[in-house]
Amino acid sequence: MGLSVLKFGGTSVANPDLILAVAQRIADVRSRGNRVVVVVSAMGHTTDELVRLGDAVSSSPPRREVDMLLSSGEQVSIALLAMALNQLGVPAISHTGAQAGIRTTDSHTRARIQSIDTARILRELDAGQAVIVAGFQGVTEDGQITTLGRGGSDTTAVAVAAALAADSCEIFTDVDGVYTADPRLVPEARKLDRISYDEMLELAVLGAGVMHSRAVQFGQRYRVPIHVRHSRKSDPGTLITEENPEMENASVVGCALKENLGRVSLRDLPNKPGVDAAVFVALAQADINVDDIIQNEASNHGMNMSFTVEHRDLADIKPAMERVLAELGRGELSIDVGLSRVSAVGLGMRSHTGVAAKMFSALADAGINIFNITTSEIKISCIINRSEGEKAIKAVHAAFGLSGDQQPAVDTLTPMNAARRSTANAAN
Ligand code: ADP
Ligand code: ASP
Ligand code: MG
Repeated sequence: MGLSVLKFGGTSVANPDLILAVAQRIADVRSRGNRVVVVVSAMGHTTDELVRLGDAVSSSPPRREVDMLLSSGEQVSIALLAMALNQLGVPAISHTGAQAGIRTTDSHTRARIQSIDTARILRELDAGQAVIVAGFQGVTEDGQITTLGRGGSDTTAVAVAAALAADSCEIFTDVDGVYTADPRLVPEARKLDRISYDEMLELAVLGAGVMHSRAVQFGQRYRVPIHVRHSRKSDPGTLITEENPEMENASVVGCALKENLGRVSLRDLPNKPGVDAAVFVALAQADINVDDIIQNEASNHGMNMSFTVEHRDLADIKPAMERVLAELGRGELSIDVGLSRVSAVGLGMRSHTGVAAKMFSALADAGINIFNITTSEIKISCIINRSEGEKAIKAVHAAFGLSGDQQPAVDTLTPMNAARRSTANAAN
């Protein structure tokens, strides 16, 4: 008998009728002889509303209490889904993250899953139940409720699928798969039948909200194939899986836009060993991800450093950096807000030339100023003004020929890269 993990996002369970429709879909999967574990998000925009409630009573709500509040959203949807399934004659039982054995770090509002004790889930499956698990939440060793960061239900689903060695992990959402760009921003975007873990991970980190980035990491590490599908259609959606070494990779498979970024600048820092370490140890201790790091050439007079963070981390960054400056005895802190990052991603960048030139030309032709550039083997990102984000992603998407009516851009291989690629294939 197969074991499927199915995850339904907020829009798929936004009201009682949709919850009943989801219950029917689960009943159909079970009637084909599968055991099912279902991970659910909070209904509709519940989590946003809970965030607003917290902000209405406090300008800096303690993160432990934010988790207590936000985790309540999923507790409502799991209970309603279990009720709806029982109504359809399917035995079902709901579990909070803690009840499902999901143990996390104690980093409130951005906790990471450390382990999953599957004993209880397996016991309920053996008893013939459809097992419902609250997405987005877990519990620390000493019993504190945590959440995994916005969009974290995807990570719950893939981690549970990995822990159970499930046959499949299906992410049901409100689009019929992963597109070459967010179809809300770029209506011409094209659905991809398949995408590699590496490309999906980059796109997710860079702003493609269709998948939580840590979910893709779990999938890759434990080799869980992930299907992203529409919750009300039978379309097979997009398969996120290993790279297919036989296939010619397009130079760019997708674009993403990340909004609400701020730039933190530290000026006139002392120029001596250990200053970078002091800054980055403080960031690590606060569990804050930073990107686009620039350090100016240091002189006797001091050095300057800047990096970007998400707006939501600014409240934690400010006190952390002020402490570092006080310890160093020198330096100034300033923060700019209102930036975005537009990115292009593709495994084919490893073997194609001219990708950066094409991206910068597209932005230049659209009259968009680039403040900072970062690259990796498979991505190029540019920091721009937030107000130009939509124009930028449309321009980059069009430049790489990603629209539905265009062929994806596959630039010509240079002879040297072609040789390197065939050696790599032979080694596989
Ligand atoms: P859920 O509530 O099901 O988790 P999300 O809102 O988190 O749904 O994710 C689905 C949304 O992700 C889509 O409605 C779409 O606007 C957005 N999205 C962003 N980038 C992409 C992309 N590359 N492909 C598909 N959808 C994307
Ligand atoms: N309900 C949470 C959120 O809105 C988790 C999720 O939907 O994945 O972020
Ligand atoms: Mg989501």
